[in-house]
Amino acid sequence: MNGKPQIESRATPVPGPARSIILFLCSWGPHAAFQRLQDECAPIPEAVKMVRIPCTGRITKALLFKPFEMGADGVALIGCHEGTCRYGSGTKAARANVRDTCEILDLLGLGATRLRLGLFLPDDSAGLLQFLRQFSDDIQSLDKSPVAPYPLPAVQGDPTPALNQVLREYDVYACQDCGKCSSACPLTLAGKTFSPRSTANALIAGQWDDEGVRRDIWSCLTCGLCSDRCPSAVNFPGFVREVRRILLAHGLGGHEAHGGFFQSLSRTMTSPDLRIHHWSWLPDDIQTDPQSKVLFFGGCAPYFDIFFRTHLGVTTRDILVDSLRLLNFFDIHPALLDAERCCGHDLYWSGDQENFLKLARLNVEAIRASGVEEVIVCCPEGYRTFSHDYPANGVETPFKVTLLMDFLEREIDKGAVGFKRLNRSLTFQDPCRLSRFEKKSALPRKLLGRLDSAGFGEMQERGGGAICCGNTAWTGCDAFSKALQVHRLRQARATGADLLVTACPKCQIHLRCAMQDPFIGESLEMETVDLTTLLARTIQWE
Ligand code: SF4
Ligand code: SF4
Ligand code: SF4
Repeated sequence: MNGKPQIESRATPVPGPARSIILFLCSWGPHAAFQRLQDECAPIPEAVKMVRIPCTGRITKALLFKPFEMGADGVALIGCHEGTCRYGSGTKAARANVRDTCEILDLLGLGATRLRLGLFLPDDSAGLLQFLRQFSDDIQSLDKSPVAPYPLPAVQGDPTPALNQVLREYDVYACQDCGKCSSACPLTLAGKTFSPRSTANALIAGQWDDEGVRRDIWSCLTCGLCSDRCPSAVNFPGFVREVRRILLAHGLGGHEAHGGFFQSLSRTMTSPDLRIHHWSWLPDDIQTDPQSKVLFFGGCAPYFDIFFRTHLGVTTRDILVDSLRLLNFFDIHPALLDAERCCGHDLYWSGDQENFLKLARLNVEAIRASGVEEVIVCCPEGYRTFSHDYPANGVETPFKVTLLMDFLEREIDKGAVGFKRLNRSLTFQDPCRLSRFEKKSALPRKLLGRLDSAGFGEMQERGGGAICCGNTAWTGCDAFSKALQVHRLRQARATGADLLVTACPKCQIHLRCAMQDPFIGESLEMETVDLTTLLARTIQWE
């Protein structure tokens, strides 16, 4: 006896029900412990599939979540104790990532108990075995994961015929080669070697496999500024979306921001049996009514706040609470869909048509079953998706779809309300889905004009001609997206305003991201608030 705990040895693994557990195992300390278990044929639960990793700190939230998208029942992340991590901060990063992912699993209805962090020294094989057996028993005692992986179809062969059809449908041949699109494109202006016109021409010439063309297809922000300027009305964002759909179906995806976390999250929500708790966090003073004929659709803000809290500290969930406060103010106690799923905007614009349609059908079916007559949406992307993209893709919405801003403007216009003094001067970032796609740039300005603020200044580019916040659908974020955000923030500061008003949770996320720059961030810093929040905090009966 050497004083170390003895490991029970068994030649064959323990059989068990068909559960699957992914074990991310740090190559340093705990791997030695695991190796000993293997050498001694210890009874490692059969459900456990080990993946060696360099350090727990390298396993991002996207990687922790990925196995769940693929149908895993449990995930364990095994690393070193604080003070023994070879990279110093790995354990700290692992704790934060596990905590955040657990919260997201809870919101999704999968449950935080499916993910566990374990820390072991190299000689603690017995402790590691005990952990694995306990975790495996705990996972076996849970229902099998309701996530049914929905893989992208793997189309074989040459995409050229499908691409040619899209070129015809979008009448890209009508391009006059005038270059107005390129001279308007914010990515081109941010310095990227990128031109909508040449991308279109390259695809007309059949060069879809060219590395630069493929990169550009996934870089486009689908912001629509080019189409706005195009004398031939070429719908470039729609065309790009369709090209992405075809490339993706052929296994030719692009760069997904944040390790593809948000695409994974949306795809996970396509599983009908998930018991999502979208509204479990709502404050008690918000009044809702399951019998109401009006339903409020919130969107993915609760997930954003958890995901970004360690480095952006955004509070986009407040937009949802403030939207509901405003509805309550006007005596609307709306119904909420506890099983609310992502509207599918990002999957749609990143070319995953199949999963977008699954989300659309699940959302519409749940809303239809609730018997409501009207759905109020606060997010411009959600509004665009419900009011335009669902019907355009054959998913009829047997209810009225209203943008919260439209509802508010109508109610405020009746005249019985006013606004408390707001000693701030404001400027406004137009979300492209609102200003360009829905042609509603006057609407937020009407609402801003009703506030009793210290002033309002327009940025150099505004309304239908405003430049994008730098990223759409979580694809292709790069140095040029960042340059664009820096440019936009400089424009905002140049107005002399001290408060930047946004109207889409993602605008806030993307612009705040650029403010984190360690070198110039301070010179870009600007307090940012959503229009809904400003209205909710200052509105009063007169
Ligand atoms: S603006 Fe329109 S017509 Fe002109 S180059 Fe661009 S796509 Fe072609
Ligand atoms: S949609 Fe926006 S980013 Fe894409 S090419 Fe047009 S202007 Fe450029
Ligand atoms: S701008 Fe920042 S927050 Fe936005 S996608 Fe890129 S890295 Fe993420």
